[in-house]
Amino acid sequence: MSNTYDYVIVGAGFSGLVLAERLGSKGHRCLVIEKRDHIGGNCHDRTDRNGLLYHVYGPHYFRTNSEQVRTYLSRFTEWREVQYRAQVFTRNRFWSFPVNLATYRQLSDNAQATESDFKRYLAENVVPIASPANSKEAILASVGEELYDLFFKGYTSKQWGRPAEALDPSVCRRIPWRSTVDERYFLDEFQALPKHGYHTLFDRLFDASGADLRLETDYREILPYLRFRHLIYTGPIDEYFGHCYGHLPYRTVRFELEERSVRHTANGFLQPALQINYPGSEPFTRTVELKHITGQVSAYSNLVREFSEEYRAGKNDPYYPVPGQESAALIERYRELTVRETGVTFIGRLAQYRYLNMDQIVGAALHTFDKLEAAPPTPGLVTPMRNIARVQVA
Ligand code: FAD
Ligand code: UDP
Repeated sequence: MSNTYDYVIVGAGFSGLVLAERLGSKGHRCLVIEKRDHIGGNCHDRTDRNGLLYHVYGPHYFRTNSEQVRTYLSRFTEWREVQYRAQVFTRNRFWSFPVNLATYRQLSDNAQATESDFKRYLAENVVPIASPANSKEAILASVGEELYDLFFKGYTSKQWGRPAEALDPSVCRRIPWRSTVDERYFLDEFQALPKHGYHTLFDRLFDASGADLRLETDYREILPYLRFRHLIYTGPIDEYFGHCYGHLPYRTVRFELEERSVRHTANGFLQPALQINYPGSEPFTRTVELKHITGQVSAYSNLVREFSEEYRAGKNDPYYPVPGQESAALIERYRELTVRETGVTFIGRLAQYRYLNMDQIVGAALHTFDKLEAAPPTPGLVTPMRNIARVQVA
């Protein structure tokens, strides 16, 4: 393996691999460095002991309204179009979710309730807040306090380790609500899983890149020995700068895989829907049974159960940036440092510290590629140590 590259890319998630493929297609020599023992980042999936697919780092429901992203990814995968369905388990029963007319019929104990009844309920219950300042206000302003208490209050504080008041409105606004009977989790035009799993998609993407790959390697171990024109960094932004301004908050998740026989169940499944959310006192937030959407037929099934925890650098992995007042000032300070860090592109959910979905990540990587091609890094190999910033703070 050479030690001279046009681009060194830190992280083999969607951001890193899309850029590797695009840059490779233009003849640029790339090295991808990944500290885990596999490519695909948090979207990685694999099969369990019974040959059933599961998502190793939590459910990854691909959906998009972007024709560009769909067309691009379709070069590396066929699709299995699906509808993602979730329910909430609380007060000893399963509820239709996200909030829709079916939920209201359960709440009002009236199976005949109409859309106008539900709209009347909303008109009476919604709290008039013109510009919600946080996630609690965002939900109060859309469906009111009763539904907030039932579905959002407990789940959000369990998931984030903070109350909804401490989070940007955008966090809970990810969940749409509607006044008709519509139990889809998302409304995006295209909702599908890669037909042969994300791992196959990533294998094809990586093969097409022609890049070199170093797995199980922290980039800081080998960067001093490499020569390259430009660094693409997709890891945590505060870690890149040696936490010089302090640690940004992230949430991590502990995932428990449970493989079980379904021989004695009525319909071959362990739970009534793909995903069950638990806003109550259970120590976990949700359980996912992927078999509901893979179409796999088996006498077995599996559940992945999620336990949300606070991230500790060096102890577990950061999964979710925490959007809110607590991180707002600190992330701006780190972003200012990135501007000065010429020779490095910061991209991805951790490097940009943004709660981004896969399609947004792929779209951003395609856009970044266009920018890099329009204004290529200055010719001449840079001294790599310059890129391992250790900013001195007075
Ligand atoms: P990542 O996938 O995080 O990749 C970054 C890579 O960099 C990692 O593999 C990491 O190991 C590596 N790395 C970090 N530091 C170093 C280092 N020092 N040296 C070497 N390598 C390093 N999106 C959806 O669209 N739909 C969903 O349903 C969905 N569900 C999600 C559920 C969970 C629990 C989580 C956490 C995310 C979910 N997402 C979902 C978001 C999705 O995971 C991200 O959009 C996507 O993975 C971001 O890709 P990325 O390349 O930016 O980052
Ligand atoms: N949420 C909630 N109750 C639910 C589902 C979601 O309160 O039953 C809130 C919670 O704060 C969560 C956010 O809405 O973090 C976004 O939910 P989503 O399902 O998009 O979470 P993700 O899949 O990104 O973990």
